[in-house]
Amino acid sequence: MTVAIYPGSFDPITNGHLDIVRRASTIFDKVVVGVYDIPQKSLLFTVNERVELAKKSVEDIKNVEVVAYSGITVEFARKIGAKVLVRGLRANSDFEREFEMALMNKKLAPDIELICFMANLKYQFLSSSLLKEIIKLGGNMDDMVPPHVCAALKKKLLY
Ligand code: ADP
Repeated sequence: MTVAIYPGSFDPITNGHLDIVRRASTIFDKVVVGVYDIPQKSLLFTVNERVELAKKSVEDIKNVEVVAYSGITVEFARKIGAKVLVRGLRANSDFEREFEMALMNKKLAPDIELICFMANLKYQFLSSSLLKEIIKLGGNMDDMVPPHVCAALKKKLLY
């Protein structure tokens, strides 16, 4: 049984992330969405809120689980028996950072393989940070996140 972990901040989870989760779930026996508790960036949602938003977004996919974690990603991967690390790559913005992290992860855990999925064309420009900026300014991003995520964003940013 091949378990994959898809780690990230997911502040909040978007349709871009969900596209990766769905595609990974057709390849691996189990996909664990790992919500990193305190990343080095400013956050809108607490770790529990990010987990709950992600859980509701994947409730229809049988082999996907959402859990919070802290510390080094590959150590958490080992703990849950994941042999594969999944990441999404958008054109331009992600490659160098992902490459750097991949080499560091390989040094820390040579037994864990990284598999990157190319971002769906529809979501190439979508990032959680841009999403929050647009919603704060009153823009419509309804087709970029599930409805419950959109409602949570509006509640935090507008009301
Ligand atoms: P991190 O803080 O680890 O970068 P993110 O939540 O921003 O966490 O992203 C998690 C993963 O999802 C990363 O591999 C990122 O490149 C990928 N990702 C982010 N947005 C998209 C998108 N629109 N389409 C595909 N992959 C994405």
